[in-house]
Amino acid sequence: MGRTALTPCPLSQCWERGLEVVRSEYPSLVPRPPLTTEGTIVHITERDSFVATPRMTRERFVGVLAEAGSPWAGQAGEIHDLIVGAGHDPAIWLAICAREHSYGTNRDSVLWRNDTRSWTNARSVRDPSIGGWEVVHDSIRKSDYVRYANIFDSVRDGMYRVTDPGYRYVKEGRTTIGQVLTIWTESDSAAYTAAVVALMNSWHDATTPGGVVEGLGLTDVRHLLARRSPADGVPAGPYARRPLAEKRGVVVHYSGPEVRDRANTLAVLQAEARYHVDKDWAKPERPACYGDGLMYHVAVGDDGARYLCRDLEDVLWHCGVTAQNETALAVHVPIGDKQRATPAQLESLRGLIDTWRALTGTPVEEVWGHQELSSTDCPGTLMADFVVPYRRGRLAPVETQQWFPETGHSVGGAFWQFWQSRGGLPIFGYPLTDELSEGGQTIQYFERAIFEWHPESDDLWKVQLRRLGAKALATALTPHPPLPMLGEGE
Ligand SMILES: [Zn+2]
Repeated sequence: MGRTALTPCPLSQCWERGLEVVRSEYPSLVPRPPLTTEGTIVHITERDSFVATPRMTRERFVGVLAEAGSPWAGQAGEIHDLIVGAGHDPAIWLAICAREHSYGTNRDSVLWRNDTRSWTNARSVRDPSIGGWEVVHDSIRKSDYVRYANIFDSVRDGMYRVTDPGYRYVKEGRTTIGQVLTIWTESDSAAYTAAVVALMNSWHDATTPGGVVEGLGLTDVRHLLARRSPADGVPAGPYARRPLAEKRGVVVHYSGPEVRDRANTLAVLQAEARYHVDKDWAKPERPACYGDGLMYHVAVGDDGARYLCRDLEDVLWHCGVTAQNETALAVHVPIGDKQRATPAQLESLRGLIDTWRALTGTPVEEVWGHQELSSTDCPGTLMADFVVPYRRGRLAPVETQQWFPETGHSVGGAFWQFWQSRGGLPIFGYPLTDELSEGGQTIQYFERAIFEWHPESDDLWKVQLRRLGAKALATALTPHPPLPMLGEGE
């Protein structure tokens, strides 16, 4: 899969276009509506397969029937399991049930008038294994309908007819939602199909099990971020999912260019989602291929708030490596260039990843920065501020410690405060050691200084620089052989 060898970070790929798009979008951080069709966020379209793996959770399925006051609410779980067990999607069948007779609650329906126990208002029985049914005549619609022995038989019969090789759906090659419902409906199939798809989309946002989302402390903003529908007719992707049970690993990302209004996390995510949707992810010289949405599952804002941006099951083109694109959690911190994550952001990131690792059995070695998987600057300062110290179990709040990947040493506590407040890198240079004990005194070597800890002194003088000049002078003043004169002997 050549496409997956690409990365979404604007700075790492697609320099000109990436920077141009992102920079031009950031100044006006006004939330804009996501791609929608008639007010519905598009995940599922009539061009998606009718027979499919579940597009809604069991919990939601049961909840919808209970909320509607359906006569089948008490059997909802069993009906769901029957559908999934047959390899069908509970969402499409629930939406059909809604359309046929409002989940069995419409008293002005064939179902109520004739006690048909029918999920589907079928006029004939296709499944030969089903018995105990009869045909009844509805006096108002002046037509015959099947009265099933029970609701399960009618659901079973409905699924059977869609996949019966001897029946017209299969014979005519009708596999998509739209193709099936065109035949299914007796009239007004466009409105019927639109209503079914809209309902399915309204339930779709619950496909990531609520418990996991709750456990990770995520605020769901998926419906506020741009998505591209397969119905656009534009080549795009990945449009693929992997079950949560197969997920493990974490890849940390950042925005790339400096993020100007970084406190407004949602607006930044919205701009980035639009950028990822409009971006051509294909390699140069290959046909264009656009994005199906933001290529990060979750994001952590300046204040530590955590956002769910995509279904956790979604496969995303985020790190340039197929395995991690398919199974790893893509975690995004919307900062860029030299910007540093806030202490709240780092703390939240740590908590999020701790929980994800516990949920998925991810070892600490499988927490990566994007640049460890493919060639990119991503995730910028987070490499030193978060990824490496996290893996080493040495993560501390940013105000009390800093790890320098350049030399592999940390500066912490009072030494770190002193280093920051008295001039930083140009004055002291990088740490060359961790804190050391020398003659009973705590010291640390830097490129251009040696810090000494004087606990006996006043606060202002607890950290002192070694008096290197005085020592050097004292050494210089001790008698030694005369220096040769320049030019002597020529
Ligand atoms: Zn990245």
